[in-house]
Amino acid sequence: MSDTIAAVATGNVVSAIGVIRMSGSDSLTVADSVFRAANGIKMADAENRRMYYGNITENDKIIDICLCMVSRMPDSYTGEDTVEFHCHGSPVVLAEVLRVLFSHEVRQALPGEFTKRAFLNGKMDLTQAEAVIDLIEAETPLAADNAVGQLGGVISLKIESVYKQLIDIMAHFHAVLDYPDEDIEDFEMQSYLKILYEIENEFQQMLETHERSRVLKDGIPTVIIGRPNTGKSSLLNALLGYDRAIVTDIAGTTRDTIEEKVLIGKVLLRLIDTAGLRSTENRVERIGVERTLAALSGAGLVILVLDGSEPLISEDYDALRSIPPDVPKIAVVNKSDLPAVLKADDLDEHKIEYCFASALSGEGLSSLDAKIQNMFPDFSTPVSGELITNTRQAEAISRGLRSVELVTNALTAGVTPDAVLTDIEAALAAIGEVTGKTVREDVVDRIFERFCVGK
Ligand code: GDP
Repeated sequence: MSDTIAAVATGNVVSAIGVIRMSGSDSLTVADSVFRAANGIKMADAENRRMYYGNITENDKIIDICLCMVSRMPDSYTGEDTVEFHCHGSPVVLAEVLRVLFSHEVRQALPGEFTKRAFLNGKMDLTQAEAVIDLIEAETPLAADNAVGQLGGVISLKIESVYKQLIDIMAHFHAVLDYPDEDIEDFEMQSYLKILYEIENEFQQMLETHERSRVLKDGIPTVIIGRPNTGKSSLLNALLGYDRAIVTDIAGTTRDTIEEKVLIGKVLLRLIDTAGLRSTENRVERIGVERTLAALSGAGLVILVLDGSEPLISEDYDALRSIPPDVPKIAVVNKSDLPAVLKADDLDEHKIEYCFASALSGEGLSSLDAKIQNMFPDFSTPVSGELITNTRQAEAISRGLRSVELVTNALTAGVTPDAVLTDIEAALAAIGEVTGKTVREDVVDRIFERFCVGK
């Protein structure tokens, strides 16, 4: 028996349809108290996952005309009896419907409480629950692809398989401890070691994907540089599609660094607009220049903006030279709407990819998009759940790896199997945390607090 909870699942925004979700043992009874299906069918008798048209009423007053759908336990999202009302998407209407539900011993769901119940009822493990947040918050098609794969259980399967292998090994080692007559033949020990090395390998690969996933999730740190007035802020705004940085024709307006994310096709850039590299006596501006240099050292992409309506001058060369040698770079020859002074020949000798564009008219920006997408093919390679994006999971896998390494090191040094049991147990506990088998309750609570209400 669980208490019955309800929440708006579609957020507090005006939309065509707003969904209210209710879950718990009283869901069907409450649905029949508030909802009248036009065909007279009681929700207690309703078909699973079929929409019924009707009214939500309170004391015979119609609150909304909507659709109602029942999903009975155990086949619902939460594993409990669940009812969804697909109402008109006005926050006022939705609040009214909730108020009516709350008058029937239903309470407001806490953030992530539906998914937490799904986890506690064994409908999904923790990697899948965490994939739910990742899917909702996905900022790139790749992040969504990865989250969907994990929701489908890609990580769970891998971890489960390792878990089972470790349990088998541990069972045999325990047998040796309990029955001294039992022995582990040398060939058996070799095959266990082989399995343990494979597990180490698997964990290492998973951890490498975590490194890679960070850039894919957070975006490529991209620094836009160039001398004043070449159009850096204008380009940033053009890429973002709205005015974010202040654009003026007074040199040195952009004094601080500004960070924004922009999706270029499938590539996520974390754009950092900077004060530029002009040598200056102004103290505030000088701090900006220092920040630019710091940003350059951590950049994953540098966009050098040049003014195509003027010849290259020493400050342009300074900017070009300031780009660390191994950082991918591209020059945007801006202001292509003005008569061209800077020509392709001027750039060819500098070994930099370039394109002509106008931040003002938008001309040439699609070719910049295409070039950037070509530079980062990782963003277009399907991952289908293979990337460990979650730091909690990566940390647990890393602990698991360390314990397995202790086991293999000890066994290869000739230590007897009974002496490595503690480390195998530690490895099991660590990877059990990934899927939630062995995770502490307060950690579970913390994970679900990050969810939105209604999920
Ligand atoms: P920043 O100092 O490099 O950030 O340059 P801004 O973005 O502030 O632009 C400096 C000046 O150049 C402003 O007056 C812009 O309107 C102008 N500008 C920027 N991009 C273009 C462009 O593509 N074409 C033309 N004609 N003017 C531009």
